[in-house]
Amino acid sequence: MQTRNLIDGRWTVADDGSTLPVLDPADDSLIAEVPSCGRDEAVRAVAAAARAFALFQAMTAVERVSLLKAISSLMAERKNALAELLTREQGKPLVESLGEVDYARSYLDGAAFELERQSEETMLDRALTGKTVLVRPTPLGVAALITPWNFPYAMLTKKIGPAFAMGCPVVVKPSEETPLTALAFAELCVEAGVPPGVLNVVTGEPIGIGSAFFESPDVRIVSFTGSTATGRKLVEASSRQLPRLALELGGHAPFIVLEDADLESAVSGLMISKFRNGGQTCVSPNRIMVHRSLHDGFVARLSERMSALVPGRGLDPQTTLGPMINDGGIRKVQDHVADAVARGARLVLGGELIEVPGLARRFHAPTILLDATPDMACFQEETFGPVCPIMAFDDVEDAITIANGLPYGLASYVWSSRTAQALHVAERLHTGIVGINDPAPVTSWTPFGGRKQSGWGIEGGAAALDEYAPPKTYSMVGLDPEAV
Ligand code: ADP
Repeated sequence: MQTRNLIDGRWTVADDGSTLPVLDPADDSLIAEVPSCGRDEAVRAVAAAARAFALFQAMTAVERVSLLKAISSLMAERKNALAELLTREQGKPLVESLGEVDYARSYLDGAAFELERQSEETMLDRALTGKTVLVRPTPLGVAALITPWNFPYAMLTKKIGPAFAMGCPVVVKPSEETPLTALAFAELCVEAGVPPGVLNVVTGEPIGIGSAFFESPDVRIVSFTGSTATGRKLVEASSRQLPRLALELGGHAPFIVLEDADLESAVSGLMISKFRNGGQTCVSPNRIMVHRSLHDGFVARLSERMSALVPGRGLDPQTTLGPMINDGGIRKVQDHVADAVARGARLVLGGELIEVPGLARRFHAPTILLDATPDMACFQEETFGPVCPIMAFDDVEDAITIANGLPYGLASYVWSSRTAQALHVAERLHTGIVGINDPAPVTSWTPFGGRKQSGWGIEGGAAALDEYAPPKTYSMVGLDPEAV
């Protein structure tokens, strides 16, 4: 297992030798120790990336496509080992980790595909202005990537795919909770032939490492996935050097089941989107609104399905619900349930911690809260846990108003058997993506970015590449357009 950092092509420890423990969230056992780095190591990583920029730019697009494909196929080869490591440090069931490795690979494959597809666009504009205009995507420079713990491979490749495709060297700061997956990925990148300095990974203290990113004039884009509160701090920190910011922040997805929805499909869809990673997902449905005519049937079926979830260690094959990532995570779930009950919600399933023999007290029972109202904490901010607060509605206008009533706008879901009706509702939801009868709308091939306080910028699809390499315009006078 790789436990050291990668800086300038060399595997290194912290300058003072200090380390951070990485614990298995299921039982608190020590998996490994990683370097506890800070500002100084990150400054060196940024300098290495800045030096690598010229070399990386000199690589042809064909070479960069091959590099992305080589990384992706090594991930496929090592799929089982990568997935096991993810489950150990993050807790999710192994089957989900295996799925995440494939999902993560799709961002490398997708970026390679886009790069192959993207031709340099030449606009011969002589008739209009008498000039010859050439527009080319041009890499910004060093990209600093700050990634979260809930999908540590996928959130990394979502950024690295387009960065590498467009020739931007990167410095990665993975979450303190899940550094080992990032280091395993880095090891594989070195083997695939990523040149020294093009990928650097620094683990440790977020504020120190972050300060190195925001002080350096060489860092031209900071791409972050995490909470809105941290995103706001990064915006403040960016005010001196003004790097481009790409922010994928918190969500609080509404899940609206219309009168004409297929009940079985809606319940199955909710199970998939809600219980992926135990609800610790930024696109997790948290505000479930069901037409009153379907409400009781929906709750009965959902309750049956949720009762069948099996909590446990992610490596056990029967496990379908892993632990919450840490004590703060479990406390938040408990607080939200207590707040909802205090404000009048009816607890009809779960509501308490589950004791799993031999494991930490970090498992929360799948929970259903009925009569949820917008003033409850679980309707105000994301719970990040296996809790389904449900509200019945009579008029879909009320559901839309509640859905749009928060400063978040990441994902939403609409269930209906009539396309026109579903689209009509979906068009009015202020979110970057809407799943219409689709519990998994986010893919590497399609653009995804939040509205309002859920973020800036796009990940996935062709637009993701523009974040790292915006168009540069060459306006030429007196040149022969045929010679371009
Ligand atoms: P969560 O609360 O879910 O862990 P955060 O938004 O705090 O989400 O963390 C997401 C990522 O941001 C992690 O890699 C974390 O270390 C990093 N991070 C948190 N605070 C800062 C900061 N001030 N500067 C740079 N990175 C930070």
